[in-house]
Amino acid sequence: MKTIAIIGGGFGGTMTAVNLSRLSDQPLRVVIINSKRPLGRGTAYGTRRNEHLLNVAARNMSALPDRPTHFVDWLRSRSEFNDTPEDELREMFAPRCIYGDYLRSLLGACMNPIDERSQVTIEALDDEAVDVDVSGESSATVLMKSGDALEADRVVLATGNQAPGSFPSASPLRYDPRYRSDPWSEWLSRLPPPGGTIVLLGTGLTMVDIVLTLGEIGWNGKIVAVSRSGRLPKSHFRGIAYEDFVPDDAESLGLSGLRELVQRHCERLRQMSQNPAIAIDKLRPHTQRLWQSLSKDEKEAFLSHDAPEWNVTRHRIAASIHNRMTDALDSGRLQVIAGTIDKLVPGEQQIDVVLRDTKGNEQSIAGDLIINCTGPQLRFTQAGVPLFDNLLRKQLVTADELDMGILVDKHFAAITGNGMPSPVLFAIGPLLRGSLWETTAVPELRGQAMRVAEAMLERKPVAVQEEEVIEYYI
Ligand SMILES: Cc1cc2nc3c(=O)[nH]c(=O)nc-3n(C[C@H](O)[C@H](O)[C@H](O)COP(=O)(O)OP(=O)(O)OC[C@H]3O[C@@H](n4cnc5c(N)ncnc54)[C@H](O)[C@@H]3O)c2cc1C
Repeated sequence: MKTIAIIGGGFGGTMTAVNLSRLSDQPLRVVIINSKRPLGRGTAYGTRRNEHLLNVAARNMSALPDRPTHFVDWLRSRSEFNDTPEDELREMFAPRCIYGDYLRSLLGACMNPIDERSQVTIEALDDEAVDVDVSGESSATVLMKSGDALEADRVVLATGNQAPGSFPSASPLRYDPRYRSDPWSEWLSRLPPPGGTIVLLGTGLTMVDIVLTLGEIGWNGKIVAVSRSGRLPKSHFRGIAYEDFVPDDAESLGLSGLRELVQRHCERLRQMSQNPAIAIDKLRPHTQRLWQSLSKDEKEAFLSHDAPEWNVTRHRIAASIHNRMTDALDSGRLQVIAGTIDKLVPGEQQIDVVLRDTKGNEQSIAGDLIINCTGPQLRFTQAGVPLFDNLLRKQLVTADELDMGILVDKHFAAITGNGMPSPVLFAIGPLLRGSLWETTAVPELRGQAMRVAEAMLERKPVAVQEEEVIEYYI
């Protein structure tokens, strides 16, 4: 019987296992190796706090690409949504912990199948994979931090986002209780007393989560959020159906042609009194092929000039959450500062965050608690993750040209040091960011989890009718 090892038990790893279970017609052993985050939930859906909502409407959160209504149907089966009108349920931004329940229920049904004829067993190992040995065309050994080893025929990397990067500091912060380098680790027990200051490094979705929780528990103090752009995620909105304006030969336009095309449609939408973000949403089905058509210089130019606007526009938040953020800003509870963080200087009482504002002036903000919400470290080869260091050293994977992740072929097989696809090692999810750009959210990952399962089972791809992705209410 074949064994498939999946490293990572968040959305990507869980759904790869679920797809292997439902698509395999052969006996198969699947082992999910997962550490740190809760199995089946991962970073995003491991939260237990109800104020942390999905940032994608329920209608677009099915975990199965060939069953578009699966999540909405599952929500309907819960007593609290029994009487919710269909339109409301489809447009709802559900708590992320409920989405985690959904993923756990899918995994649970595969791990303990009612149908005794099921040929696939799924096991979970609570351990960190630190290395992989590959021998020949069809055999690998995954080595764990605990010293255990697992023999497998295929290995899938579904390790999610890297941990956030670090900042220069006047003295080590690793054991300083006033600094949290990982925003997903427990920080509520470290809260400063009322009247204190919490400084959040970053102004993206993670910062939003923390501000919401501080509001929810009624913490009475000042919150300062700092990022280069000082921009907060935008809100979802009621939009209109708009033409698919991306031409078939858009790859030939280059970055400047694409900017011009999008700006033209943004302007047209403004003239129609509509939100120009609709033009960005319309790029979504084309994003990966357009990204791949850009040269390295153009990708770098996009990352430095266009990505800040892209990030706040593409990764929008529910209107109810946006309102709460606006209230926090209006009441002065939250202050947002644009600036580049130079260093952290731990003092006797507080930690100073030293930054350079947009005019180049140095500024220092003293905080009783500092939480790093700057998002994943983007330099793959410098992430300092034992598993990746070993895979790179053995040339089992190749970093992409921007060093944001690794290269894969169209079947998600990792490209090895000699430029050939590995017969054994596959990868999905945020690890492919440099190759695909948009590869972090459920609407992309569900397709990857199914395709990689099909590739490993050597099955023909199941036809999926791509729904039009609508990121706004209509
Ligand atoms: C706060 C937040 C909110 C989000 N909200 C949404 C949303 O509403 N809608 C949406 O579509 N997307 C959302 N996303 C995007 C989200 O990244 C994806 O939806 C998805 O959860 C990513 O899944 P993943 O499996 O790739 O990574 P993860 O969920 O991060 O899972 C990776 C898992 O692998 C484990 N792991 C890593 N390395 C190893 C190793 N060497 N050995 C063992 N285990 C390992 C990790 O500990 C973790 O459990 C959100 C992301 C975040 C961070």
